[in-house]
Amino acid sequence: MQEMNANNRSCGSCTACCFTHAVAEVNTKSGEWCKNCSKNGCSIYDARPAGCRLYECWWLKGKGDESDRPDLSGFVMDGLDIPGGHDLGIVNLWEVTDGALESNRARQIIQAVLDQNSVIGLYIPADKKLSLRFPTTMTIAEREEFVRAFREFDHKQ
Ligand code: SF4
Ligand code: SF4
Repeated sequence: MQEMNANNRSCGSCTACCFTHAVAEVNTKSGEWCKNCSKNGCSIYDARPAGCRLYECWWLKGKGDESDRPDLSGFVMDGLDIPGGHDLGIVNLWEVTDGALESNRARQIIQAVLDQNSVIGLYIPADKKLSLRFPTTMTIAEREEFVRAFREFDHKQ
């Protein structure tokens, strides 16, 4: 959760990443609401750890429409570079609200990401599920190499 950033966007009432993302300093797991998260936001906001202060989802970074704020869309979007995996990296969608990754908006974003030749990771944290989707331009060998590098990267996290 962040205050107003350079894109004139702020988290406002959104706390979606307090569910989707693990934060080691407060011992949270992906798919479980942080114990410090209440309907009024973070109860330790001024003392929240660096892992929370530094995280910015892509909406907060200025991507997408105002209506794509994660508490409204039902999913959080961010991305990663996978060393050695594929020079395109991976775009991630993390489901907050049940079924949100099946919404028209999510489908639209998924297709746009694939059309830009990026791999997309679809996470359902509540079920501890992840599925990868690959652009049609990636060969089977490239997909296998990506998965190998992704697993290696994931195990180091
Ligand atoms: S998901 Fe994005 S907008 Fe929502 S609290 Fe986290 S960083 Fe802020
Ligand atoms: S400490 Fe606060 S900002 Fe960090 S995950 Fe928990 S509720 Fe969210």
